[in-house]
Amino acid sequence: MATTGQVIRCMAAIAWEPRKPLSIEKVDVAPPKAHEVRIKVVASGVCHTDWEYLNEAGRGMNLRSFPLVLGHEAAGVVESVGPDVTKFAPGDKVIPLFLPFCEECDQCKCEKTNLCKKNWENTQAGVLADGTSRISCRGQQVYQFLGVSSFCQYTVVPDTSLAKINPKAPLEKVCLLGCGVSTGYGAAVKTGKVEKGSCCAVFGLGAVGLAAVMGCQAAKARRIIAVDINPDKFQKAREFGATECINPRDYGNRPIQDILVEKTNGGVDYALECVGSPVTMSAALESTRDGWGTCIIAGWTETESMSVQVIKILMGRTLKGTYFGGWKSAKDVPQLVEDYMQKKLKLDEFISHNLPLAQINDAFSLLRNGQSIRTVISLENF
Ligand code: NAD
Ligand code: ZN
Repeated sequence: MATTGQVIRCMAAIAWEPRKPLSIEKVDVAPPKAHEVRIKVVASGVCHTDWEYLNEAGRGMNLRSFPLVLGHEAAGVVESVGPDVTKFAPGDKVIPLFLPFCEECDQCKCEKTNLCKKNWENTQAGVLADGTSRISCRGQQVYQFLGVSSFCQYTVVPDTSLAKINPKAPLEKVCLLGCGVSTGYGAAVKTGKVEKGSCCAVFGLGAVGLAAVMGCQAAKARRIIAVDINPDKFQKAREFGATECINPRDYGNRPIQDILVEKTNGGVDYALECVGSPVTMSAALESTRDGWGTCIIAGWTETESMSVQVIKILMGRTLKGTYFGGWKSAKDVPQLVEDYMQKKLKLDEFISHNLPLAQINDAFSLLRNGQSIRTVISLENF
């Protein structure tokens, strides 16, 4: 391509500091170095985690370096590849990944986990393998959120943090497999291993929670109880397979776990927490039944603790967490794309809004006000 080896000037949404609106600016994206791939980002979902990092930086979230380009749930096309890249070529359709899959480390070789640690410290700190980012604005380095930064028309990612997908896949839909949908769906079918005929409760009905509902349905759960403080989410939850919907606020001061234990005659088999609040995490654990109840935490917080009543664990419950739904990223995401193409997995139904990059702050407002499930940002027009 004509741009190979050149710096590309394009538009990005920059977070200059925490708790301030993003600013649309021209940035320079440097060519990829060894084992890196530069991609043209076509579409990016807006995830709760993006908003959380912007607003809770230094509070529920660790403080990261600013300025920063957020966005980590995307799909695009390879523009050029750096030296020693063997698995990608210009024109490939791809999904960038905040969780790598290097195929070589102990974790990648182990079936028990998906936590590949390749470039981990660097990407968590917002830089690539050499300790720098490829994005700059007016000569100043701009950090890459989780090593991705998809609120930018071009970005550079490690070749171990990229999935090559079906060339026929619609990028403005499959971008959701870069985070939220894969996480929630995997929380149920992969990490939780929800069983046929079981009784499940899903806390929080954003994209992650709805995908967990979808996973419980795929696993043929008998009862799927959807829990949210925003009743506007209930209709969607039913479309995704919820058999009943509960608003904790309808029960005054009674804890939601007590309601669930009562309704299910002892507790649910599986509780999936998709809110990100330590209070709901404890409620989810306590809503599971003695003997074999399993609670899976998908909601995010980096600095807070949840309280666990020891007796609940003594009585045979299991508490698990899931990162990216337990999927081995670059290996499993292409298969999830296939599942979508074969209509085994819903994606379109998660998309409540489509907006251009220039309206990224509106997308955050929609998320915060509970009006959107997923807004997909188009990077091709702004
Ligand atoms: P979202 O904001 O779209 O949805 C959260 C939902 O929780 C909303 O519908 C909200 O009304 C509901 N809620 C809030 N308080 C509640 C309460 N007390 N009880 C019941 N429901 C309540 O968020 P999302 O994008 O779906 O993400 C959900 C969580 O998953 C976030 O914490 C996010 O950071 C996390 N996440 C984790 C991973 C992972 O790898 N584990 C990946 C992506 C996102
Ligand atoms: Zn690895």
